[in-house]
Amino acid sequence: YCEQLQHHNQHDTAPVTVADAVPAGGYDPELWRALQREEFELFYQPRIDLRRGAICGAEALIRWRHPERGLQQPNSFIPACEASGLIVPLGYWIIQEVGKRLPAMQEAGLDGRIGVNLSFRQFQDRHLAPTIERLMQEHRMDTRTLEFELTETALCSDEEHVRSTIRQLSDQGVEFSLDDFGTGYSSFSLLQKLPITTLKIDKSFVDGIPGNIDDEEIVRAIINLAHNLNKQVIAEGVETRAQLEFLIRHDCDQVQGYFFSRPVCLDQFLNLLSTNRRQQAL
Ligand code: C2E
Ligand code: MG
Ligand code: MG
Ligand code: MG
Repeated sequence: YCEQLQHHNQHDTAPVTVADAVPAGGYDPELWRALQREEFELFYQPRIDLRRGAICGAEALIRWRHPERGLQQPNSFIPACEASGLIVPLGYWIIQEVGKRLPAMQEAGLDGRIGVNLSFRQFQDRHLAPTIERLMQEHRMDTRTLEFELTETALCSDEEHVRSTIRQLSDQGVEFSLDDFGTGYSSFSLLQKLPITTLKIDKSFVDGIPGNIDDEEIVRAIINLAHNLNKQVIAEGVETRAQLEFLIRHDCDQVQGYFFSRPVCLDQFLNLLSTNRRQQAL
């Protein structure tokens, strides 16, 4: 994959990215090698639609299968990838990987989108939108199968460029959600201006429901805000039946969390999809 990217850099007129993004000090050599050796792997955490009681997509979450240290969680390497800029080529690998796996997911009954996290750092690549479009074409990805999860931090950096990137992709049918909603600084005007279809309520608020009066109020307020702006709302980090019941009672659209499933490897996710389809058919 890296060779392919480098090849593009040398011989292609299409705007590509790796060389642009490599900082003076270079990438962290261990992480760069990991990308070349394809040691990264995507796990998938299903999203559940509360009205249909069915899987309505998933979030792709990266893991690093380290040859000696075993499976590494993103918090242990994503910050370093962001600091060095490696997140830019890694981000393209992630989109390509989702593209490769989509046919199997659709075969197993996927009805909905796969959410891919985009870090603020990836927007510093000026070719983000055209490169994503090219990857989607190369892998014949239906744009209705992709959703990008942004954080409020990403939205607030270089507003004009971020806005035009989002518009460009959204015109192609890709959707955008706002991740960890409520923990950053997003202005209501931005929510209105950008084609964001979904708000994801941060786990830190979901942790307190039911019982913590402030968290209950915040969760209700986010659900109402989303619906008043014609957006969908997902609660993240749902671990208990009591949380689920609170969210159903307050008209939340979707949930994601250990109560239904942890993030699982592709094969397990395909099994979940098949089981889900059998249950829906009953
Ligand atoms: P995020 O995008 O907010 O992802 C949700 C995180 O919450 C995931 O952690 C998920 O495993 C975890 N989670 C989901 N449900 C529950 C639950 O019920 N209980 C608990 N305790 N945790 C739950 P994970 O996979 O460790 O990812 C952490 C963060 O790393 C993500 O937060 C995201 O910001 C970043 N990340 C993960 N994959 C990628 C990626 O492919 N690209 C980029 N740029 N960032 C990624
Ligand atoms: Mg984790
Ligand atoms: Mg996310
Ligand atoms: Mg989140």
